[in-house]
Amino acid sequence: MQPSLRPAPVRIVIIGAGFGGLYAARRLAGTTADVTLIDRENHHLFQPLLYQVATAALSSSDIATPIRSVFARFPNIRVVMGEATGIDAVARTVAVRDTGDFPYDILVLATGASTSWFGHDEWAKASIGLKSLEDAETIRRRVLGAFEWAESRRDPVEVDRLMTFVVVGGGPTGVELAGSIAELARSTLARDFRHIKAAEARVILCDAGPRLLASFPEPLSRYAASRLQRLGVELRLNAAVEQVTDDGITAAGERIDSATVLWAAGVAAQPAAAWIGIKPGPHGTLPVAADLSVPGYPEIFAIGDVMTRPGPDGKPLPGLATVAKQQGRYVGALIAGRIRGRQPSSPFRYRDWGSLAIIGRSAAVAEFGRIRLKGTSAWLTWGAVHLTLLMGMRNRAVVYVTWIWSWLTWGRGARLIIGSRYPATTLFRETVGANAAQEH
Ligand SMILES: Cc1cc2nc3c(=O)[nH]c(=O)nc-3n(C[C@H](O)[C@H](O)[C@H](O)COP(=O)(O)OP(=O)(O)OC[C@H]3O[C@@H](n4cnc5c(N)ncnc54)[C@H](O)[C@@H]3O)c2cc1C
Repeated sequence: MQPSLRPAPVRIVIIGAGFGGLYAARRLAGTTADVTLIDRENHHLFQPLLYQVATAALSSSDIATPIRSVFARFPNIRVVMGEATGIDAVARTVAVRDTGDFPYDILVLATGASTSWFGHDEWAKASIGLKSLEDAETIRRRVLGAFEWAESRRDPVEVDRLMTFVVVGGGPTGVELAGSIAELARSTLARDFRHIKAAEARVILCDAGPRLLASFPEPLSRYAASRLQRLGVELRLNAAVEQVTDDGITAAGERIDSATVLWAAGVAAQPAAAWIGIKPGPHGTLPVAADLSVPGYPEIFAIGDVMTRPGPDGKPLPGLATVAKQQGRYVGALIAGRIRGRQPSSPFRYRDWGSLAIIGRSAAVAEFGRIRLKGTSAWLTWGAVHLTLLMGMRNRAVVYVTWIWSWLTWGRGARLIIGSRYPATTLFRETVGANAAQEH
């Protein structure tokens, strides 16, 4: 038999099917490359709408898409569900827990970031971050459960504690969560209870800095603060958190008793830098060169939240889906070009399309270069942009119809508490512990 003269296909391993990894793989779909896409989940998640799952506005399946279904038509893309645990950059293999090693010629690291409690492991056990569908479902169970148990408790101190919700972090995620919980309490749940007054629930938003939405221009931060206050959210600015426990927080010397502390204060990108053995950049990120390769490793690329690279203004590129998507497309095209023997392409250039943050019903802020929007116009823009970016026609249609229904009725369709066959206090402690365990 004649040996085959065809060159072996280039083996590309992509770790992570978030915005970066998915768009890189899409660009390589249908090429001669042999692509393995590894993710510890079986779904691609649209994180910008996680807060709506957490606050019962949407269901988990509305904002997630099975990764396999995206690539079913492309035989050169193999999807592996598994957790990468390390890289041997000399042997060029990726270790996947309980599965074995995957050899690569080119590796794309797109593992994103996870919630960071700034080294305070004890705070991680007493509060919930928002980064995955498990987190969102845990928050929903805790928030809806707090109202249910407050309704059946007689001790006023415990009722107050259950009816107080603390959100730590005044960036877009913290603002979205605080606004949405306040609307849930004041509108959706207001008439559903007999003993408690759901509308009187306290929602407290803490931030260590002097203003909310610090990445936006100051007038938009002021607008966000005033809209949240109109919703009844209590703001604590210049209030660095000093302690987080199972029954509340201490911030700037003030003790706030609360059964539900939500953490939206930071993310970190460990452990990708440690896998390769290079010195991490800020928040555990991997510093990358102009073509997004890891210095010293031209066959390894890092994209999205896991990398750090200065943008056109000299500041690090922000941790945004748009950055990850553009980098995924860029690296996919660069690799496809390399396989065809093309000269290296021009360096990665980020196109900033603007920033948006939602505060509540008919209230959002947007910045597109010198154009600044607030109120209904920003809110409609936010909705249109998020519907466009959401993956899959089914999800877009369901989310669009759900939003219209919610706007007309003030209702929220996903108000189920699942996994609550415990007495209230046990439920609270067990879910907090489980959440923290996942993160570590
Ligand atoms: C609540 C929230 C709201 C946000 N809102 C916005 C917004 O409005 N606009 C915006 O532009 N951005 C927003 N972002 C940021 C945006 O979601 C991220 O910047 C973007 O998801 C980064 O993409 P990525 O591909 O780098 O990482 P991710 O999308 O996080 O994907 C990483 C993937 O890697 C997988 N993974 C991680 N570790 C491993 C491992 N060891 N083995 C296997 N798989 C692994 C994960 O399961 C995941 O699928 C928001 C983020 C959050 C959390």
